[in-house]
Amino acid sequence: MKRVVILGAGTGGAMVANRLARHLSTELTNTGIEIALVSDTESHIYQPGLLYVALGLADPDSVFREHKKLLVPGVRLVQDPAVKIDMNQRSILLNSGKMMEFDYLVLATGSHPDLDAIPGFREGAHSFYTFNEAMKTRKDLAEFDKGKLLMIIGVPHKCPVAPVEFMFMFDDLLRKKNRRSDYELMYTYPIGRLHSLQPCSDWAEGAFEKQGIIGETFFNPETIDPKKKIVYTLEGEEVDYDFLVAIPPHRGAPVIRASGLGDPEGWLPTDRATLELQGYRGVYVVGDATNLPISKAGSTAHYESEVVVRNIIRELHGEKPIALYDGKVFCFIEGGLDRAMHIQFDYNNPPKPADPTQMVHWFKMAFNRMYWLSVRGMV
Ligand SMILES: Cc1cc2nc3c(=O)[nH]c(=O)nc-3n(C[C@H](O)[C@H](O)[C@H](O)COP(=O)(O)OP(=O)(O)OC[C@H]3O[C@@H](n4cnc5c(N)ncnc54)[C@H](O)[C@@H]3O)c2cc1C
Repeated sequence: MKRVVILGAGTGGAMVANRLARHLSTELTNTGIEIALVSDTESHIYQPGLLYVALGLADPDSVFREHKKLLVPGVRLVQDPAVKIDMNQRSILLNSGKMMEFDYLVLATGSHPDLDAIPGFREGAHSFYTFNEAMKTRKDLAEFDKGKLLMIIGVPHKCPVAPVEFMFMFDDLLRKKNRRSDYELMYTYPIGRLHSLQPCSDWAEGAFEKQGIIGETFFNPETIDPKKKIVYTLEGEEVDYDFLVAIPPHRGAPVIRASGLGDPEGWLPTDRATLELQGYRGVYVVGDATNLPISKAGSTAHYESEVVVRNIIRELHGEKPIALYDGKVFCFIEGGLDRAMHIQFDYNNPPKPADPTQMVHWFKMAFNRMYWLSVRGMV
């Protein structure tokens, strides 16, 4: 019997598990290959939906589906968080005390915002990168009736475009209510441009100017004083706010660090082409958990899952893993409430943002529903 264990049932993990089960369907019953998906939650969350939830544009329940309803036959769901991975024994210690051995392992443990990275964040800031934060923002933003909304960002963070989208969508919401003049909107970014990718930054700069959104670069938040409502930066600035939206810097999953894997921030050293964990045969990484210099995005996890699935199937058949990932990423970017654009890029080709259109916005709306088919490995 050969066992493939996939750790983490988010975007990347669920896609790998379902795609493997689809490709291996007859072999699973005839040759005793087992696919086990280890999860620390009961439900899958569609994280891009949190942007809409925070702005009051989507029903909070719409972003959840139970894992068991998303998995195709042949995937065994193990709802028992992993506590430690032992690469020498090729086994995982689960929270229940059970040990789970693996022949092949896929690490898909994602990334999370470190809510304690910026002192004062918990008392003074709002966010939309976790469900609870998105719900708090949804409630408080509805009551925020005039003043200055300030966005601060720490790097790295997943979905590099979501903070920009938030600004454009909030701006448009205010315009639709004819209330834009009661608000000041200010967006900041830690490096010398408004977005990690230069072409996106160039586009955002022009579009911010057009919408009257202030953009400031080299803005590294150090602390937040929630009583005075001031953000202090490493650059020595003090900026006041009435409503603070913060995207704290992200980290890899605690189990990665607890297992002595990855760098101090919990990112796993990953071969940029084969997606193998460096130094280990038969162990792969997908999604946000890698240390690759590309956007941490669901589409990244999607394209990577196709490569990992091909390589694991080759290995199960006694062949060398030769499928290669080219760094492909695809992102929709909402430029308001009824217009969007899409960008595509890879290791060698930068994105080329175009003007947002209504049609692309409707594609994005359709994708928000199609995501659930994509997780099942159907598109
Ligand atoms: C507000 C927002 C908007 C976004 N918008 C977009 C977008 O428009 N387009 C896009 O492509 N991407 C977007 N993303 C990013 C996208 O959601 C992530 O990049 C994607 O989910 C990464 O997939 P993953 O499988 O690596 O991690 P995740 O989907 O986060 O899954 C990781 C899983 O591992 C589990 N896990 C962790 N530790 C353990 C453990 N010890 N035991 C068991 N399970 C464990 C976690 O609970 C989680 O279920 C957005 C994200 C946010 C927050």
